[in-house]
Amino acid sequence: MPAQRTVPAQQTLLRGAMQRLDLTRNAFAERLGVTRRALDTWLLPASSREHRSMPDVVAKMIGTLGVPAAGAAAPSNLRARLTRPGKPHLLSVDVFDRDLAEEVLRVAETMEPIARREKVTRVLEGAVLGNLFFEPSTRTRVSFGAAFCRLGGAVCDTTGFTFSSMAKGESIHDTSRVISGYVDAIVVRHPEKGSVAEFAAATHIPVINGGDGPGEHPTQALLDLYTIHRELSRIDRKLDGAHVAMVGDLKHGRTVHSLIKLLSLYKGLKFSLVAPGSLEMPPALVALARERGHRVVEADTLAKGVRNPDILYATRIQKERMGGEGLESYPANFRIDRAAVKAHCAKHTVLMHPLPRDSTPGANDLADDLDRDPRLAIFRQTDSGIPVRMAIFAILLGVDHLVSGNLRDATWK
Ligand code: ASP
Repeated sequence: MPAQRTVPAQQTLLRGAMQRLDLTRNAFAERLGVTRRALDTWLLPASSREHRSMPDVVAKMIGTLGVPAAGAAAPSNLRARLTRPGKPHLLSVDVFDRDLAEEVLRVAETMEPIARREKVTRVLEGAVLGNLFFEPSTRTRVSFGAAFCRLGGAVCDTTGFTFSSMAKGESIHDTSRVISGYVDAIVVRHPEKGSVAEFAAATHIPVINGGDGPGEHPTQALLDLYTIHRELSRIDRKLDGAHVAMVGDLKHGRTVHSLIKLLSLYKGLKFSLVAPGSLEMPPALVALARERGHRVVEADTLAKGVRNPDILYATRIQKERMGGEGLESYPANFRIDRAAVKAHCAKHTVLMHPLPRDSTPGANDLADDLDRDPRLAIFRQTDSGIPVRMAIFAILLGVDHLVSGNLRDATWK
């Protein structure tokens, strides 16, 4: 008798159980008494020829492991835990503890079939997003917009100062008040640290920080965490106790600022922070990781700082934040290419980068000679932007509990 469960429900159940029981894939397969291969086929997307339905008996067994079923229809308390009354915003990863971050990522899991265009939902029908980007962006702007559209909403956006009234001297306060009259949620990217919080202070509709200068990039850190969990699960490792190397411009890179805070919520990590002398991780963030019991090693060359990490997170030099200063101290040996990976990484090392990578000659960023290396997770990482940002919107707009019950098949292919 074939299982009646839908593919999303099957995957949500399996991933949720694995996460709540804090087991690697191998250990979870063992607990269920099935082969790792069988578990892998149940976790594959329905579009994969290798995908299989999980037998009912396994689903029943998961029920006996004390794991609450995910995706229940009662309103969740996530919005209340993520925000404060009257302040429905997501500005920093400081709001997260480990449980909350993992619950948000479980909501993201439920969005996967929509992100993969197998299912359609309209839970945000009638809602409008204001996507305001006053700094360059491709991934963040488009994926926020696509995420809102995939929930059934519509998007209005403005890009750059030149075409906005800020070029006429309008304040952040006034812009925020005006846009709040037009839309139901706002994503803002702005070159000044703290500017998105200023934007949020002037409105009662949800404001999401899409990057405030060298400050934070909370949704990037969440999608990075989501990617890290999935990549580590595939290679049968756990984040607790993992070795994470962050390389590049750690001073101005907001993605690593948010990510080190989120990763510090886990236990017993080793952080290798590798940056040229003038571009080191801000001391307060190093101190925070140490206070939370992690080992932090700082180095100024790959040779000294990177030795077989589980995750290598490379970053781009943030030229736009330094007016030429520091550039000369960004040496060629910071280039992450096939030779560097061979010299400093393990066979299992997951290679990540928030992108864009600077592909101009002499840029010394992540090289494209790694593009066929299966350890390179950068495009799986960018794909994660959709389910994670859908989860954030669904939670902030109070519809996260409605998604699972409001799915239909996509009619195009
Ligand atoms: N896209 C990321 C950001 O906006 C990383 C980068 O630009 O280097 O911060």
